[in-house]
Amino acid sequence: MYRSALPFLVILAAVAPVGGQTTPTERAAAAPVVAAIEALEADIQPARLAARVAGRGGAAKQSVIQAVESIWYDRLLALSDHIGRNPEHGFEEFQTVDTLSKVLDALGFEVEMGVAGLETAFEATWTSPAGADGPTLGIIVEYDALRGTTEDYHGCQHNAQSPVGFAAAVALAEHMESHGRAGTVKIYGTPAEEMGPPAKVIMHRAGVFDEADILIRSHGSGETGRNRPGFGVCCLNINMVRYVFTGRPAHQRQSWAGRNALSAAVQFYTAVDHLRPTFRPEAVVQGIIPEGGKAPNVVPDRAVVDYYIRYPDEVYLAHMDSMIANAARAAAMATGTQVEIEVYGEYRDGITLGTLEELGYAYAERMGAPGLNPEPQRPAGYEETGFVTRDIPGLSVGVFSSPAPGHSYERWEDSMKEVGHTGFLFDAKIMAAVLYDFLEDEAFREAVVREHATMKGLFGQYLAGLEAAYAQETGIY
Ligand SMILES: [Zn+2]
Repeated sequence: MYRSALPFLVILAAVAPVGGQTTPTERAAAAPVVAAIEALEADIQPARLAARVAGRGGAAKQSVIQAVESIWYDRLLALSDHIGRNPEHGFEEFQTVDTLSKVLDALGFEVEMGVAGLETAFEATWTSPAGADGPTLGIIVEYDALRGTTEDYHGCQHNAQSPVGFAAAVALAEHMESHGRAGTVKIYGTPAEEMGPPAKVIMHRAGVFDEADILIRSHGSGETGRNRPGFGVCCLNINMVRYVFTGRPAHQRQSWAGRNALSAAVQFYTAVDHLRPTFRPEAVVQGIIPEGGKAPNVVPDRAVVDYYIRYPDEVYLAHMDSMIANAARAAAMATGTQVEIEVYGEYRDGITLGTLEELGYAYAERMGAPGLNPEPQRPAGYEETGFVTRDIPGLSVGVFSSPAPGHSYERWEDSMKEVGHTGFLFDAKIMAAVLYDFLEDEAFREAVVREHATMKGLFGQYLAGLEAAYAQETGIY
């Protein structure tokens, strides 16, 4: 999901000189918060901290990184290619998770399938023989393919994520066992990154990630970069909303005896177009009518409209959502039908931490990763929903793994070639090194926790500032 939005990110970055804010209203509301973030970062000095932390650890850290390389070549590179050749799209990754759970079992993890009521979600746990009384290191893995017109395909390179995460997890577990370190390593299998409803939100609300002190994941990428600390999201804040209109069927020649749900849906669809001039220009609203009746000689008693409503911040998004819901109710009233409104997916700004971003990038530089981009990018959180990043500190590691555009067939092919294999091994090594530091370096761990807690508080202030800034126009309706 992330990399498909890259050109868009570049445009936004060009007009967003500070933080992750896009509009003048957002920048004004964020100004005091941005100043506070700058003060926090000046205090923590993430780049200097990262240089110091990355330079420490000596032989023990080196042997963790070496262990990653051994297991990658021994068995996990082949697993990445195997998943690459057998793509399955979101929520239907049955064969994939079956394979992954068997591998995890063989690697000494206890696997629980179907967590949070999602059939293809899992949680795998390894507890140190020295006890669980230490940090819980969490690794997120994704494995869904894209839905193509002719076949599913791994154009987002999710085939590599589990093997990469497993390599880092096993190397850390070996280290903890041989050095008598207490703690837990958890691997979270999160389905369907490319589709709604967002599985990570469902899993988070079910408490699946609660024990994790840190969450880290990898993702294929067109460059090796890092993000600035702050709040933001890759592809705007989103509400995915389904509007289900219910009427009454009748014969076409006695249509007055029915109540036409399709008429309601079309009125609603048109009303949304008429709302566009009342929305701020950054609004993005597109929808489809996936259901509109079965046959022309029956008055449709059911029609469905499905919209993705997007805006750069969640406060104005809530206003748009409310205006659109009113339009749906109005269309139902006008046609004598009923409407049910279901928000089935939400994506929000996430929290990005300088401590973890800089450390990941410092390792990419030291290890000689390809495709380095020294220019820090807009904050976007480390996972696509934003919600998880607000509660748990984390990092997404993305080393250059293909020059082809995101979601292309070429990127899929690259995932099974040298360029992909090389990038993924760097991902695994960087993940392992960052997790090693989080485990072993108490001062670094405290800096991460402090940065996250402060950032979370500032995020609340930012939202309150936006509420005040929009109060007049969002209060009109
Ligand atoms: Zn993706």
